[in-house]
Amino acid sequence: MNGNVAFFGLGHMGGPMSANLVKAGFNVAGFDPVGELLDAAATQGVKKAASPLEAIAGTDYVVSMLPNGEDVEALYIDSDKLLEHIAENTLVIDCSTVAAASSTRLIAEAQKRGLHAVEAPVSGGVAGAVAGTLSFMCGGEAADVERARQVLQHMGSNVFHAGPAGAGQTAKICNNMLLAIHMIGTAEALQLGVDNGLDPKVLSEIMLKSSGANWSLEKYNPYPGVMENVPASKNYSGGFMVKLMCKDLGLAQQAATASRSYTPLGSLARNLYGLHGRAGNEGLDFSSIQRLLG
Ligand code: NAD
Repeated sequence: MNGNVAFFGLGHMGGPMSANLVKAGFNVAGFDPVGELLDAAATQGVKKAASPLEAIAGTDYVVSMLPNGEDVEALYIDSDKLLEHIAENTLVIDCSTVAAASSTRLIAEAQKRGLHAVEAPVSGGVAGAVAGTLSFMCGGEAADVERARQVLQHMGSNVFHAGPAGAGQTAKICNNMLLAIHMIGTAEALQLGVDNGLDPKVLSEIMLKSSGANWSLEKYNPYPGVMENVPASKNYSGGFMVKLMCKDLGLAQQAATASRSYTPLGSLARNLYGLHGRAGNEGLDFSSIQRLLG
């Protein structure tokens, strides 16, 4: 037995991540307000907790994978007040993508109570969560990140220490801003090719061996039918929702304003994803931006 884990948030990412911890020999108690997700996780060996307090009883680690910063602050500090109930030797690892200020607050509040906490937002998507190949971008004290590695290494292939509290979130939004930009560029190029009579599969093969090659084209092709097992070939279901990409692009813009950085393509990407979401596509995978261009 590797230890006890309380896992909060069993959605697209947290579901498979918690299942990988079970496979690695952890005793995992899961909590999510959505009953069907608890049932689904139970089929993977995650024990159903009836409440947040039941989940953290006797645990060594608390891992959370929640939609946004308000959820994280509500769980730990403002509403469920978990930090007041977590035992002293427990390590809190928040893997959600949130504002650097939310992570900094969580880590500082934990330290005030004699607890340890790190932020560890991830890259790699649902496929990476299922395969256990995520990249974690940690922020916090070096010793805490080292301890978190004992858990994170079973859900991913890379565990980076970006710097102090907040640094992991900054690395994450820089990465996702770039991801949004190359996804839109990839969709735009594919649409231009198709509109001019090219087969999107052939065009993808050509660009993959040319200077246009990038992650969106190689691993997550947005054009339906080009790749199997990606959201584009499943009516853009599963994956990373447009509304979550909008959240990340909003966080990137907030950071840019605060640091007086200029991110013209990031700003355009936020507007395009925002309009696409408002047109009824918030729940689709972010590669559905292809539809806006088609
Ligand atoms: P999701 O909406 O599928 O899952 C989040 C889950 O958290 C939901 O099931 C929700 O019910 C649950 N939840 C909310 N409040 C809770 C609470 N107080 N206690 C327990 N559970 C609670 O979202 P997701 O796609 O799994 O994303 C989760 C996080 O991971 C987000 O911050 C997102 O930005 C980040 N992320 C997602 C992807 C991706 O590809 N989906 C990739 C990288 C990072």
